[in-house]
Amino acid sequence: MPEISLATSIPGPKSAALLERKRRSVPDGVSVTFPVFVESADGAILTDVDGNRLIDLGSGIAVSSVGNAHPKVVKAVQDQVAAFTHTAFGITPYESYIELAELVASITPGDFDKRTMFVNTGAEAVENAVKIARRYTGKPAVVVFDHAFHGRTNLTMAMTAKQAPYKTGFGPFAPDVYRVPASYPFRDGLTGAEAAERTIYQIETQIGAANLAAIVIEPIQGEGGFIVPAPGYLAALVKWANENDVVFVADEVQAGFARTGDMFASQFEKIEPDLITMAKGIGGGLPLAAVTGRAEIMNAAHPGGLGGTYGGNPISLAAGLATVHVMIDDDLPAKARAIGEALLARLGAAAKTDARIGDVRGRGAMVAAEFVVPGTTKPDAHAADAVIEYMAQHGVVVLECGTDGNVIRFLPPLVITDVQLAEALDVFDEALRATR
Ligand SMILES: *Cc1c(COP(=O)(O)O)cnc(C)c1O
Repeated sequence: MPEISLATSIPGPKSAALLERKRRSVPDGVSVTFPVFVESADGAILTDVDGNRLIDLGSGIAVSSVGNAHPKVVKAVQDQVAAFTHTAFGITPYESYIELAELVASITPGDFDKRTMFVNTGAEAVENAVKIARRYTGKPAVVVFDHAFHGRTNLTMAMTAKQAPYKTGFGPFAPDVYRVPASYPFRDGLTGAEAAERTIYQIETQIGAANLAAIVIEPIQGEGGFIVPAPGYLAALVKWANENDVVFVADEVQAGFARTGDMFASQFEKIEPDLITMAKGIGGGLPLAAVTGRAEIMNAAHPGGLGGTYGGNPISLAAGLATVHVMIDDDLPAKARAIGEALLARLGAAAKTDARIGDVRGRGAMVAAEFVVPGTTKPDAHAADAVIEYMAQHGVVVLECGTDGNVIRFLPPLVITDVQLAEALDVFDEALRATR
């Protein structure tokens, strides 16, 4: 029995009708990539309102790492929502906030005293990391990178590299945000040391450490194209930041929480960020995000300076605690490594027979294929789009990324079965053949 089962074409009639209602009630700016409306989901399977069963290789953008509707997460949420729903941690607090802060401190890199605060979204985590770094250093500037994605609020739009669709027409943007080149081995051919030298030269000459509060970088860039920096690049930046009173912030919102085969991508690089922002996978599907870091930096902000009505909502925290325990107890980092081996093997083989795939890269269950015009490194978004569209029509949800929109990213739930993954990758191979 195949895992995918399509009762209708995609979209089916019920999804098509809902899309029409969506068009009349929801602004066009809130766009929908896959025209399938979900009715239920379990692990890596999505079932839509027309009775189609699809394999999910996107995890709702790296969120449902423990699988959709994980029973332990469901139970924790049900118990919490029945006990109490909201009091505002800043008014009358509750233990789960502290419990998850302790747990996060114990699994994040760095054997030093840490503090953790909770918010609702990745963008909010990044905003708070910048607030904290500015307060701690007393300096204004923030360095971000080519291909970076940090969110859709005003400050994080300024920090995000890609213009369309994230920023177009939404300015003016927050000041004192400076963009520098990162490391992109497929395109720059530089070693980690060379790329770091280029980055640091630009920071020193164009911004100056004396003005710089923080460097904010994704250890593996997500929306920008699953770009894995050359070995040693991140460590060199951390060293420079440490020597120059600059707070090093690892934005692990997408790469964190078992996704890359370690609990955090920073661990593979053997770096200890001063602050780490996290979201997506931590909440098991509920909105939850966090900033963790060195106690002296986190404590620089005065009482009342940090917080928010819903930050560390008890229902999200219950989900987060259950989620992180599942990741530890079921050793999901190991599962991510196994998925990574399978993905790299299958995509690598595909690249050998299809010259449109210029690069296959990633770590753990965060792997991508970059599409180019054969024989060149010129990005080919149309090729990637055609493959994604074919896969959607044949029951596999897979996402695009990349500044040029030419990268297909594979972000399966870490609980996907071998059979499900193999079947989804068969559809990828078919899609390559059908669109060649
Ligand atoms: C998704 C993402 C964000 C923004 O998270 P939201 O929850 O959408 O605000 C920030 N940083 C990175 C690296 C991301 O992938």
